[in-house]
Amino acid sequence: MEGLIMDYPLTTTTILEYGNSAFKHKKIISHLPNGSRHEYTFGDLHKRCKQLANVLTHKLGVTKGDMIGTFAWNHYQHVELYYGIPSVGAICHTINIRLSSHQTEFIINHSEDKVIFVDASLVPLLEKIAGQLETVEHYVIMNAPEKFSTTLLNVLHYEDLLEGESEEFEWPTLSENDACGMCYTSGTTGLPKGVLYTHRSTYLHALTISTPNAANYDNSDIVLLIVPQFHVMAWGYPYLCLITGSDMVLPSSNLQPEAIISILQEEKITKANGVPTIWMGVYEAMKKNPPRPKLALQEYLVGGSALTASLIKGMDDDFGIKGVQAWGMTETSPLGTVSRLQPHHEKLSTEEKIKIRAKQGIEFPGIEMRVVDNNGKVAERDGKTMGELQVKGAWVIKSYFKTNNRDNFTDDGWFRTGDVSTVDSDGYMHITDRTKDLIKSGGEWISSVALESALMSHPKVKEAAVIAIPDEKWAERPLAVIVLTDEDEVVLDANFKEFLSRDFANYQIPDNYVFVNQVPRTSVGKFDKKEIRRLYAQGEL
Ligand code: ADP
Repeated sequence: MEGLIMDYPLTTTTILEYGNSAFKHKKIISHLPNGSRHEYTFGDLHKRCKQLANVLTHKLGVTKGDMIGTFAWNHYQHVELYYGIPSVGAICHTINIRLSSHQTEFIINHSEDKVIFVDASLVPLLEKIAGQLETVEHYVIMNAPEKFSTTLLNVLHYEDLLEGESEEFEWPTLSENDACGMCYTSGTTGLPKGVLYTHRSTYLHALTISTPNAANYDNSDIVLLIVPQFHVMAWGYPYLCLITGSDMVLPSSNLQPEAIISILQEEKITKANGVPTIWMGVYEAMKKNPPRPKLALQEYLVGGSALTASLIKGMDDDFGIKGVQAWGMTETSPLGTVSRLQPHHEKLSTEEKIKIRAKQGIEFPGIEMRVVDNNGKVAERDGKTMGELQVKGAWVIKSYFKTNNRDNFTDDGWFRTGDVSTVDSDGYMHITDRTKDLIKSGGEWISSVALESALMSHPKVKEAAVIAIPDEKWAERPLAVIVLTDEDEVVLDANFKEFLSRDFANYQIPDNYVFVNQVPRTSVGKFDKKEIRRLYAQGEL
């Protein structure tokens, strides 16, 4: 028997309408690329989204199902695009500004973007490839300085287009299963693959992560959205802030540690997000120059790479600011798990508590996870048995855009994450490696992630990446690629071996260490293991 409740589509338009109705006066503050500060309200956002809808449909000929690209920093116009584009039935395709020209060209042609909204400061990146872009009819420039020129053709200006447009627009009726956003995976392995989000998945993801066990936001929070809007819909935060009524602060390109600290101070930020590299930089800068008065920041939510126990402890002890770890992927919208302590952990020592917080955590309601071992069996939740992490749920991909490749999906409908993890008896998942990175030496697994975390807690190490290198006897051995805190210092391999021997078995300790000035990184700031392996293979390390 079917229930007797209204069929009410869960769309991002309903979030926009709710933000306007419930929290009209809450603020969206942007620190723009030119250093200026812009402030307006959820009510203003609503009006401008209606103007944008008129522009899209009447001036740019956008119709349902069209793919519309954005190539921009975090700021209010980008938030308008997040809501305005899907509200007319088109798809907001956020293009990662940090990819190579080759990848950007591939993505724009593959997704068939019809219009691209681009920040003036990023135009040079598109100029390089514009000749090869097959489907783009218009480039709409945002935040252009007075003197602005470009070799791009068919250029329009965002504010000129909106100026004088009607603030009346009747939203079309959409299905909650219509596509609303698109993001390509950053391509750590191979060519980028498109992930197409639905209104429903976006709505449910945002609603769920706003809850106390997850991001824990309410209408007294002032939130700094550091995670780029060009990457996985900024982890859903532009939606979640309208749901919770939290003020939203957007830093655009002001992402240096000092700039972030100054925004944290000026805007009295209470919650923020970001990848570990950002928070490591902020922590180091605050240690050198502790902010006065004390920051209002209570929590920072970290994902994308592991939040280390040492950073959790440092921020706790030195500044009383809590790091909360989340795990996710572009394919999971992105958030899948979060690690927060529960009342029964209270009796544990501080160290034991930090160990739990350094795990990736428990799944959100709406997500299921399992770990599958080498024999295809679902692993015990014993905190020890490693296997591939597989997930399914209301905001997990069921297929990549325009491809029938099913390599990442199991026959029984789970998504294969390519991460290797354990789950403990309390249900806390802990990533031990990615499938591609695991080192198998003499038939035994070695976790490169664990070695990296340990090496990075050595006082003389700034960064450490560990890769597998071929070895005649053992099949593979780990190689540690290290950036020292003091470039001129000589640190012997023996120091590291001794240091690691406290936590690792002999066979797990790398025999080889190379010292570099910088570890190669992917477009989103993770260690680029593919590139490190390539450099090693060519004898360039
Ligand atoms: P994002 O950059 O948002 O994490 P990607 O799809 O580029 O999304 O990368 C996803 C991968 O990043 C995961 O499969 C996992 O390997 C890694 N990752 C994400 N969050 C964490 C975390 N908290 N700890 C360790 N690895 C993580």
